[in-house]
Amino acid sequence: MRNRRAALAAIAGAASLALTLSACGQSGEGGSNEKKGDAKGGTIGIAMPTKSSERWITDGANVEKDLKAKGYKTSLVFGEDDPDQQVNQIENLITQGVKALIVAAIDNKSLGNVLQQAADANIPVISYDRLILGTKNVDYYASFDNEKVGQLQANYIVDKLGLASGKGPFNIELFAGSNDDNNTKYFFNGAMSVLQPYIDKKKLVVRSGQTGLTQVTTLRWDGATAQKRMDDILTKSYKSEKVDAVLSPYDGISIGILSALKSDDYGSKSKPLPVLTGQDAELASVKSIIAGDQTQTVYKDLRKLAEVATTMVDDVLNGKKPETNDTKSYDNGTKVVPAYLLQPVSVDKSNYQKVLVDGGYYTADQLK
Ligand code: BGC
Repeated sequence: MRNRRAALAAIAGAASLALTLSACGQSGEGGSNEKKGDAKGGTIGIAMPTKSSERWITDGANVEKDLKAKGYKTSLVFGEDDPDQQVNQIENLITQGVKALIVAAIDNKSLGNVLQQAADANIPVISYDRLILGTKNVDYYASFDNEKVGQLQANYIVDKLGLASGKGPFNIELFAGSNDDNNTKYFFNGAMSVLQPYIDKKKLVVRSGQTGLTQVTTLRWDGATAQKRMDDILTKSYKSEKVDAVLSPYDGISIGILSALKSDDYGSKSKPLPVLTGQDAELASVKSIIAGDQTQTVYKDLRKLAEVATTMVDDVLNGKKPETNDTKSYDNGTKVVPAYLLQPVSVDKSNYQKVLVDGGYYTADQLK
């Protein structure tokens, strides 16, 4: 009896200490003495890159919802595509005493110093969707098979043009994502592994001559930047010729490319729109696909990504090893970061209903 009372008193004491510490916004001992399980009820910091793209807003909301369901509080910030702002935001989260960080980097190389501060405060870090480079202070990586994303886009172009059955030659132009996002090269290299043989055989012709990654990147994935580049290409490299396909890595970029194409009369009877890929199945682009403008997108189920990342956080904080399915591919220059990669899915007019509506990602009403 005495022992039981003593034990209860000890538990009550520990609980009130935990309460006091969390009320002060401190991370307890903050060091290795802290019992991992004590993080329950603590705050998890979430740093997302921008609100200018729908997907990251959805990511932020999904991650918050899942963490709350797991018993945590959340502090969510968006860096508005400004790497310095993101560093400041993460610094603030560390000062607030968050128990763990989930970070989708803006500039994958700019977080080394701030993540050292996180490590000094014993805060584990999950790299969300985009791998953070050049630091050992990244614990796990949650993402999709990024090379497969590019392959899906390129295979779609190959199928639509009938290249595998010998059709061609066709004109194609190539776009890639932001050069400071580690995913960019995976998307582009994945796509080029499929397209390059056709370029070599001259079944695909890049009239602009811009085929190297450094020539085709789009800083911060900006649609207006892509629109301008497409405008220039059409003016300089297409007189009577027509572009038959455009490799676009992301829906926001596809929207910019479409504007350039439409101002050059593409989409009219005599000038059909080219096959145009994308990524993220953002609402505006799915509507554009239904309307016959954009042709394809790559759907990545963000609900699953949030579930993977938040389960990683919960596991790490409870001293459990998170599940990973790739411990080789994602070398950040300092270490190979253990990853859990989800599978992307190609979506076009023929399967959006089945994948996106029946799959509960969008309601039929949203797509009207
Ligand atoms: C993500 C893509 C997204 C792009 C632009 C990439 O890191 O993986 O899903 O389209 O950023 O936001």
